[in-house]
Amino acid sequence: MARAVPLRDDLVGLTGYHSPQVDVEVRLNTNESPLPPPREWLAELTDELGRIAFNRYPDREATALRAALAEFHGCGPSQVFCANGSNEVLQCLLLAYGGAGRTAAIFEPTYALHRHIASLTATTVVSGWRAPDHRLDLDVVDEVLATARPTITFLCSPNNPTGRAEPPDVVSHVLERAPGLVVVDEAYGQFAPYSALDLVRGGGPGSDRLVVVRTFSKTWSMAACRLGYLVAAPDVVDACGAVVLPYHLDAVTQAAGRLALRHVDAMEARVATLNEERGRITAALGGLGVQTWPSDANFVLFRPLGRAATEVWHDLLASSVLVRDCSTWPGLDECLRVTVGTPPENDRFLAALTSSLEGTTP
Ligand SMILES: *Cc1c(COP(=O)(O)O)cnc(C)c1O
Repeated sequence: MARAVPLRDDLVGLTGYHSPQVDVEVRLNTNESPLPPPREWLAELTDELGRIAFNRYPDREATALRAALAEFHGCGPSQVFCANGSNEVLQCLLLAYGGAGRTAAIFEPTYALHRHIASLTATTVVSGWRAPDHRLDLDVVDEVLATARPTITFLCSPNNPTGRAEPPDVVSHVLERAPGLVVVDEAYGQFAPYSALDLVRGGGPGSDRLVVVRTFSKTWSMAACRLGYLVAAPDVVDACGAVVLPYHLDAVTQAAGRLALRHVDAMEARVATLNEERGRITAALGGLGVQTWPSDANFVLFRPLGRAATEVWHDLLASSVLVRDCSTWPGLDECLRVTVGTPPENDRFLAALTSSLEGTTP
């Protein structure tokens, strides 16, 4: 059917971002935490709800939340910007620093939303390929940065969906060569052995162009809340504040995040459990003759050799286990991605995969 009003020319053919959801018993497809936040947090939040002035707009500056995050990270509140999920943070960065006539660089395969949000903001996207082992190929990086001169360069560490974190020397290398902002998406930061936050806090050369983006959706077990933030130089925070909608972050979300930061130990304990389970899954996959890539996050990318990925995906679904089919994504032929679940969920996944590979899925 013809549209009454034509869509913006540059958006024709673009589809929204969807992660297919199916009703299953074991959901291991969107990298959420399988574990809820602590009961004490919920009690504190419930209590806090009674103190919110619902007739008033929320604190536009998210003062208390930003102060709590600044304390957590050992930086100043003027270095923290919060928004509805890290996706809105990324959108603000692109609105402020991207747009028509400007370029963002990404390195595939990587998080699809970087390209997607860049396109929505009419930012030109240039991309380079990662090496076959999915590490950044620094020659490719140098070439892309020198040719495209991007105002924003996206890194993702650990990289979704491939799993590895970027070591500090790699981030420094990119920062040295990049002419504009270097945005390191650390959605899985607490699972990894290193973080680019040290470089932001260190204040070395280029650190005023380095932006670290984090989220409460994964390690904090709060995907339902929609809360993300960045840590960067104060002028980046100001720029995001200038483009974001007024009162974008509601009072409930601000309180939820601030109270979560009282439960760092519980978060770290969940992360430790999931990291242990990731090790168990990776070892088991190796034992099944499945190709895997090392992960520093709460998911594992794998390739079931000898069987088509899509067939395996359907077999797992028949066993009520949902993983992510990445096999049509750029550079990820025949790959699936499994999110680390609870130990019983991971057992279910491994049993279902074993049956699939043996051809005995019921
Ligand atoms: C899950 C994920 C996010 C989270 O986005 P939110 O909007 O904070 O839920 C961001 N970046 C990457 C790479 C992710 O995998």
